[in-house]
Amino acid sequence: MNTTVQTQTQATTDLASIAIVGLIGLAFIFITGIAQASVLHDSAHDVRHAIGFACH
Ligand SMILES: [Zn+2]
Repeated sequence: MNTTVQTQTQATTDLASIAIVGLIGLAFIFITGIAQASVLHDSAHDVRHAIGFACH
């Protein structure tokens, strides 16, 4: 009983993880396909400075 429940929970978690990762991947492809490269670069650049990451 316990084993069955745990297995089912694990399978559900895996499916949810795959779905989330898939959505993120599709969103990333969609964003990179629509947005201008310069816009993406500037955004990443601003984020780098905002979090204090070494840049230039
Ligand atoms: Zn910079």
